[in-house]
Amino acid sequence: MENYQDLIQKQKSFFRTGKTKDVQYRIDTLNKLKNLMNSHEQEILNALKADLNKPEGETKRAEIGLVVAEINHMIEHLPTWSTPQEVETPSTHAGATSYITPEPYGTALVIAPWNYPVQLAVNPLVGAIAAGNTAVLKPSELTPNTSALLAKMINDNFSEEYLCVVEGEVETSTALLKENVDYIFFTGSTGVGRIVAEAAAKNLTPTTLELGGKSPAIVHEDADLDETAKRIAGGKFANAGQTCVAPDYVLAHSRIKDQLITKIKEAITNTYGENVSASDYNHVVSERHFDRLHNFLDNGDLAVGGDSDRAQLFIEPTILDNVSLEDPVMQDEIFGPILPVLTYDETSEAIEIVANRPKPLALYLFSDDQTVQDDVLNNVSFGGGAINDTINHMTTHYLPFGGVGDSGMGAYHGKASFDTFTHFKSILKRSNK
Ligand code: NAD
Repeated sequence: MENYQDLIQKQKSFFRTGKTKDVQYRIDTLNKLKNLMNSHEQEILNALKADLNKPEGETKRAEIGLVVAEINHMIEHLPTWSTPQEVETPSTHAGATSYITPEPYGTALVIAPWNYPVQLAVNPLVGAIAAGNTAVLKPSELTPNTSALLAKMINDNFSEEYLCVVEGEVETSTALLKENVDYIFFTGSTGVGRIVAEAAAKNLTPTTLELGGKSPAIVHEDADLDETAKRIAGGKFANAGQTCVAPDYVLAHSRIKDQLITKIKEAITNTYGENVSASDYNHVVSERHFDRLHNFLDNGDLAVGGDSDRAQLFIEPTILDNVSLEDPVMQDEIFGPILPVLTYDETSEAIEIVANRPKPLALYLFSDDQTVQDDVLNNVSFGGGAINDTINHMTTHYLPFGGVGDSGMGAYHGKASFDTFTHFKSILKRSNK
């Protein structure tokens, strides 16, 4: 197993020079990173095409656009966020003043997944840089073209004592996790999240875990079914369902279930045409994931789709009807283009189904009924979500993004990213008079 002690020590020494604490230095770094994102646009498009058959428009929007927007937001607000804030002092401490100084943790380790392999690697890096840390990034080995490109972009343009990409598989992650870094930011599966948390516990390293889960879309009987169908299909089948916040399954009110399935089918055809395999549509990341997903295709009744081609890692957008909670497809996060639809009659049943399972990363509710909204939102714990929409809560800087329970701990995006990579040092300053 490789040893990353030297690299981490170099970064810690560089951090201690104080350079990264300088706000202008952070802004210059963020501008440089933004320029690299823009100047490497074609290479990023090519890498994602090769790794995931990701459509160009999707890469421009979800991989490059979101990162550039995050950098711009950071640059705009960084001078304010990094300024110490004076706070009130109680009368029991008369004569003293109090303030909170935001300071970087030091050296951050970022471990990234493969499904949005640029955005989910670079956005945490943006937070680490904005807060004034040095950082080591380990991209996913399952998207090797993107991993190599990120290594080239970062390692050719920054000194390794400041920012460094280390490529590799599980052993590389394991070796990096043995080092005593100052912050760990992990995005990936719940199972590996537990391994990361254990490794972090050895050094009491503060950690953010951005994990997954089975995120439900609850469709109530009053929902606008045309819009609902489009928004569910858009959130589910983009990236071939390989999105951490994709609706994993639908809980539809029994009165509208059949109509909803018909309309989701129409939405799929409107987006991908009659022949999805000939359209601009992601493939599944690997044979292992293809085989895992393929086993779900005989769960319940096939209502829509079901075609697949292992040689092309292709699975058609698929809807499964008459699925039961005991079926294999309802046990773990699907993370692919297969959408089981289950039904409920009373809102309390839908709440029970979700609340009896591990806390999901997201929840989507389609209803304009305020009582139903209150019932669901007040009685189910989940990371974040949307009413009458899917996935878009994660594309705004103003909403902290993260999970709870099995779907993770901590949050990022915008100010939340700056805060995540910052220790807030509290100071009481007393006078000698
Ligand atoms: P993963 O957990 O298999 O891998 C993530 C990273 O961890 C990779 O870099 C991998 O090399 C590394 N890794 C794998 N096994 C490891 C081990 N035993 N020890 C140390 N490191 C290890 O996840 P994935 O398959 O890349 O991504 C899919 C999962 O990530 C899904 O569950 C999805 O929901 C979740 N996800 C969550 C978010 C979020 O923001 N919450 C975003 C994207 C994906």
